[in-house]
Amino acid sequence: MYQSEVIDIKKETHDTNIYFNKIKGVKEFKFKPGQFVSFMLPLNETNKRKGMRHYSIASSPGGNILEFIINKVEGGLGSIYLFEDTEVGTKIPIKGPLGKFLLPDKIIHDLCMVCTGTGIAPLRSMIKYIYENDIPHKDIYLVFGTKLKKDLLYHEEMLQLEKEHKEFHYKVALSQEEYDGYKGYVHSFYRKIFNGEKHGHFFFCGFKNMILEARDWLLEKGYQRKCIRYELYN
Ligand SMILES: Cc1cc2nc3c(=O)[nH]c(=O)nc-3n(C[C@H](O)[C@H](O)[C@H](O)COP(=O)(O)OP(=O)(O)OC[C@H]3O[C@@H](n4cnc5c(N)ncnc54)[C@H](O)[C@@H]3O)c2cc1C
Repeated sequence: MYQSEVIDIKKETHDTNIYFNKIKGVKEFKFKPGQFVSFMLPLNETNKRKGMRHYSIASSPGGNILEFIINKVEGGLGSIYLFEDTEVGTKIPIKGPLGKFLLPDKIIHDLCMVCTGTGIAPLRSMIKYIYENDIPHKDIYLVFGTKLKKDLLYHEEMLQLEKEHKEFHYKVALSQEEYDGYKGYVHSFYRKIFNGEKHGHFFFCGFKNMILEARDWLLEKGYQRKCIRYELYN
C-alpha cells in the first residue's frame, strides 16, 4: 500500500476531472503503461469492496506523480467522494500497480486502440510511453467513442499527436452528434481497416457492451484471441 496526495485537480469536461496524485516515499512509482491502481476511499461501505475503486493510470511511467482521468458517475459513492470531498492536499491510499492490459514486448503489428469515455486513460499511457521512449512501432489507430463533442477527452492532445506523427491516426465516433461527417458508434472505424486481412494488435477499454461486441466480431474475422486485449470498466 502506498500513500498518495492529490496535488492538482483539473476540470477536463462538465463531468470529468483529471487528478494528479503524488506517491509518497518513492522517487519513481514503477508500473507498466496500461496498468491501474486501486484507490482505497473512506466510503463506509460494508460490502466486500470496502471503498476500493480501480482507476487506470493515464500518464506514462517515470517519476512519482500519477495522472488519472475520472468520470462522475451519478449517485456513485466513489464519484461523490472524488468530486465533492476531494481537494488539493487530500490523501488517498492506493494499492498496485495492477492489471495485465499491456503492450506486447515487441510491437510488430499495427496497434488498434478503441475506447469509450475514460477508457482512453490506459491507452494514453501506452501512446505517451511509445512516443516518449521512441519505442519502435507500426501504425497506431485510436478510436474514441462518446456521446457528444462536450464529452471528448484529451482531444486537443490527440489532434496534436496526429499532426506530429504521420502513423498516428485519431478517429472520433460520437453517438449523438455528427463529427467529421460521421455519427455513430466506434465499430465502423476499426472494421474498415481491420477486416481480417491486415494484422493487428487490439486494445479495447471502456464499456462492456462495446468491448464484447468488438471482440466477437474480430474473432469471427479470424483474429487470434491473444491479439485482442481488453479492460472492462463496468
Ligand atoms: C480496471 C478498471 C479501471 C478503471 N479505470 C477508470 C478510470 O480510469 N476512470 C474512471 O472514471 N473509471 C474507471 N473505472 C471505473 C471505476 O472503478 C468505478 O467503477 C467508477 O468510478 C464508479 O464508481 P462509483 O463508486 O462512483 O460508483 P458505484 O457506487 O460503484 O456505482 C454506482 C452506480 O453506478 C453504476 N456504475 C458503476 N460504474 C459505472 C461506470 N463506469 N459508468 C456508468 N455507470 C457505472 C453502478 O452500476 C451503480 O448502479 C475503472 C474500472 C476498472 C475495473
